Amino acid sequence: MPTLRTAPSVAFLFVLASVACTSTAPSAPAVADAERLLADVTWLADDAQGGRRAGTDEARRAGEWIAERFRALGLEPAGEDGFLQRFEVGLPATDGGDSRLVCGDSTWSGATHLVPAYCSDGATAKGELVFCGYAVEHEPLGWNDFTSLGLSANDALAGKVALVVRGAPPKRPTPTRATHDPAAPAQTETAANVVRGDDWGTSTSLFTKTMNCKRRGAVAVLFVEHPAHPEGLTPFDSSAAKQSSLPVLLLSGETGRALAPECFTVLERFVDPPTPTGDAVAYPARTVEVHADVERKKGPAFNVLARLAGRDRSRGIVIGAHYDHLGHGGPESMAPGDRSVHNGADDNASGTAVLLELARLFARAPRPDCDIVFAAWSGEELGLLGSKHWTEQPTIELARVEANLNLDMVGRAGAKKLAVLATASAAPFEAWLGELGRKHGFELQLSSGGNGVGGSDHQAFLERKIPALHFFSGVHADYHKPSDDVERFEAAGAAAVTELARDLVLEMTAAGDLVYVEPPKPEGGEAARATPTRSNGTWFGSVPEYGFEGKGVKLAGTSPGSPAEKSGLKAGDVLKQVGDVKIDTMQDFVYALGLYKPGDTVVAKFERDGKEESVRVLLTTRAKQ
Ligand SMILES: [Zn+2]
Repeated sequence: MPTLRTAPSVAFLFVLASVACTSTAPSAPAVADAERLLADVTWLADDAQGGRRAGTDEARRAGEWIAERFRALGLEPAGEDGFLQRFEVGLPATDGGDSRLVCGDSTWSGATHLVPAYCSDGATAKGELVFCGYAVEHEPLGWNDFTSLGLSANDALAGKVALVVRGAPPKRPTPTRATHDPAAPAQTETAANVVRGDDWGTSTSLFTKTMNCKRRGAVAVLFVEHPAHPEGLTPFDSSAAKQSSLPVLLLSGETGRALAPECFTVLERFVDPPTPTGDAVAYPARTVEVHADVERKKGPAFNVLARLAGRDRSRGIVIGAHYDHLGHGGPESMAPGDRSVHNGADDNASGTAVLLELARLFARAPRPDCDIVFAAWSGEELGLLGSKHWTEQPTIELARVEANLNLDMVGRAGAKKLAVLATASAAPFEAWLGELGRKHGFELQLSSGGNGVGGSDHQAFLERKIPALHFFSGVHADYHKPSDDVERFEAAGAAAVTELARDLVLEMTAAGDLVYVEPPKPEGGEAARATPTRSNGTWFGSVPEYGFEGKGVKLAGTSPGSPAEKSGLKAGDVLKQVGDVKIDTMQDFVYALGLYKPGDTVVAKFERDGKEESVRVLLTTRAKQ
């Protein structure tokens, strides 16, 4: 076990002290400045920074602010354009304002008649209109519109445009509900005993209904309000941003009635359960053209990189922290629909402030044994895009990078408790952390693999077989919410984290021969950013490659012991179909998993080296391997 280099021997200290009296060389290492840390988090997490969503002007401004700090410290620029390294990210989708619906001689457009649904893509499609009732499938409640309407075949809507009623179907109380007295005669349907929306789960969401129609081949979906339950045209809201890859429009009640009056007269017959009456919804064939004007633009994002020259310039340590966050919410928000600024004080203004304070301490200290690179990543919340971009297009030879220390959410360490992840990725890490934890009075929770293999920017280094550690002060109730504010930032704790990190980096710089060790895979085999297990517990075990732009879901790997691994799927494969669901996007995949249960075997079609292949995947629950 290499000796601790941060505590020079007493004799050496003595010499140093005498030199200090005479020379300018600092005697004791400078201490981290909690006030400065607080000031930086206050600036980064201020509403004025708009939640620093990658690709936005606010994030760009934050990046330039960080670059200015590096410049003021006299550090070398280590980006492609000075301190900056530019890359592109997808911006939240927006309503282009020119959506249209054409049927015969009639054309509808404008926000009073129709708007794109949050799950719409910018696309145009044409096809015959088919009425699909509520397009709901809910087995436990015994409701299936497709079966009732004779549309259950996989291609029942091939090339068609689905016309769907919004909201939840009328449903009599189920026997289990308290209100039901088995002795009582069958109740007539009244507003009082019709249950709406509460126990339907996600089966009545616009997204799920759209996917139910897409799975049967629909090329577009038109949603109409139920005449008895007008909901109004919800403006396009990208925060929900679930892509269906179809044009999907919400029609006003008036537009719906003008388009297909017959369909409304039958709605009243849709009671519990809907009786399959093919002729109940007879209507003249109509071909419609649906144009959904949804813009999904790209915006420039910036990694900000600086370098401090060390004695040995042939190698370097990268200290990283992402400075981007969620902006005004979005699919990653834990406050769905809340469009206020997600300030991201802990996630990750705290790590960015510690990165800047480390840069200040090192810039003022004697030359380190090797170079130190300070990297403020962007695009982390969108799938680790900045750190991945840098490891694909490094501005310093990756072979010279000895190790990475990642700081993501270190703002709640007031009690000096800190988790350190991926500690097994180099042999000396755990011993160093043991000693430094004691020296700095921290209770360190070391996790060799744990979720160490994923979940933040150190993942990009581990994937390149570079030893990496992640400092993390823990998840909390404000995670990914607008309430993650500076008021809850623990500055003294962050100052202590800074000094602990400084000493750890000094160990890394002095080590000189850190060898990568594959960390043990986390228990239960799922990396933090792998596909979540479906609410019904179905586990597939893929690790998707975020940022993949092609059609399908590209695998960055599979979780050990998972159904995906056992079926022979591997990194690089592009999933194209699971069961009878075509996979264009991540959402298709998550939707597909929701259709199957543990114990089901599904055929997964995928592309490998340009060739289409397929495997049978026996789905399980996460626990039972
Ligand atoms: Zn984060």
